[in-house]
Amino acid sequence: MEITIPGALVDFLDGTSLAAGENDSDPASKATRECLEAGRRGRGRTLIIKPTSTDMLNVISEYAETLLDVDDATRAERDAARLWLKRAGQSRAALAEQSLATAPAVEEQPAPAPTNVVRVALRYLRRPGSGTMTPTAYVHINCACGLAKSLVGTFDNLAAAEEAAAAMPGGRRAVRRCAQSQPIHKQAPTVEQAATAPRDEPSDWWTIMDPASGTEIVRVYGATAEDMTRRAEALPEVRAVIRKHRGFSRRRLWVSELTPAQRQQQAPAAEQAVEADLDARLDRVEQQAATAFDATARAVDAIEHAENVEAAVETVEDAEALYAAQLVTEAEATDGTWRGDWIGEHPNDEPLFPIDRPREQGSLFA
Ligand SMILES: [Zn+2]
Repeated sequence: MEITIPGALVDFLDGTSLAAGENDSDPASKATRECLEAGRRGRGRTLIIKPTSTDMLNVISEYAETLLDVDDATRAERDAARLWLKRAGQSRAALAEQSLATAPAVEEQPAPAPTNVVRVALRYLRRPGSGTMTPTAYVHINCACGLAKSLVGTFDNLAAAEEAAAAMPGGRRAVRRCAQSQPIHKQAPTVEQAATAPRDEPSDWWTIMDPASGTEIVRVYGATAEDMTRRAEALPEVRAVIRKHRGFSRRRLWVSELTPAQRQQQAPAAEQAVEADLDARLDRVEQQAATAFDATARAVDAIEHAENVEAAVETVEDAEALYAAQLVTEAEATDGTWRGDWIGEHPNDEPLFPIDRPREQGSLFA
């Protein structure tokens, strides 16, 4: 398969430590350098290469990404880098298929592990026409890039890897993410595992498990998942699992799975539920009483208001209606929407400002 490297990227690659053979200790870099040297010139300054592995595409893509990050990169350089990344992406799948078809079976990759493999690699890049070497740390997430000697460390989570990358000579600003990075595998922190116990009554006890092995770490009491999570996260043994796996597995236990001691704690919990129900009923009664009190207080206010304005009201309902009307008027005045008097002074069909009839519409603004 042939792929064309845009001219400005070819020029950039020519000036890097990759082309100078300084990265040859890394097999992928060496193979890429040889691939570049074996390439033939295309139109303009382009270079047509025949990569034999996705590693070669990845190495060139790393430089293309670096070029995109270089502050003083020209427009042509940026365009070239973007065009390459697009082409590399398109070629990668085809190339992977091709190498699968031709590669001997022994080279088959093992099935991806469920844990995350986050690797940090350090490369020294050199700008064309400049002697300055720029240390750049690359974070490779669950990808198959060949890193060899550029590998600095392997981590099982992104946070630790990024911390290590930021500690490299280039500092935090020189940390890049490999373009072939794959999504971080979720460690299923909240996925409830299928219950194996015979179905009976669900309890308020939960089993907290290591998400990798499924072994129980501890049992935690909690009427709701939130209660359980809060209690579980306070336990040092659970925190250790969270640190290691970015989460934990949990499942609500059935009553039949509880120990006698746990079952005993389950019983008082049921009593607590009755108490809670009693509390709720008491709350309702208190609220009804309060509402009744409000109604009485309002009636008293209404009657006082009727007396103040010397209104002739026969019943409490009439007084309340009068009082309600007064409250609405007051509220509207407060809101600035009160305009009853103003509207009342103008007959409905009288214009609010004079217009000379013969004039055409819009003449106000002429
Ligand atoms: Zn990678």
